[in-house]
Amino acid sequence: MTSILIFCRDCGKQVPSSETRDGLCLDCRVRRSVADLRNEHARLWRKRERYRTQNANVEQIGRQIARVEDRMGQRIKEMVSNERRATELLKRELEAARGQRYTIKGV
Ligand SMILES: [Zn+2]
Repeated sequence: MTSILIFCRDCGKQVPSSETRDGLCLDCRVRRSVADLRNEHARLWRKRERYRTQNANVEQIGRQIARVEDRMGQRIKEMVSNERRATELLKRELEAARGQRYTIKGV
């Protein structure tokens, strides 16, 4: 099976055309599709940090965060048929989401 390689118009990576939609590679499509959830995740995460310093109950926020992470997982699974790949991408998105707080905190 031959597949032409094209450059993703977002990250510039060379990917098989079969993996692209609208000139975007799978990674970039996943990243874009969960962008709003990732922002929501970051917002909740900051809120939890704030509450924690006030010794407030953070249990409920923890559940909200878990729910956002579930939704990210579902959205990725809908886009990625390969289960292993979907898990990898979810892991990456979660790491990025959780890592965001360090960036924000450091400002
Ligand atoms: Zn890309």
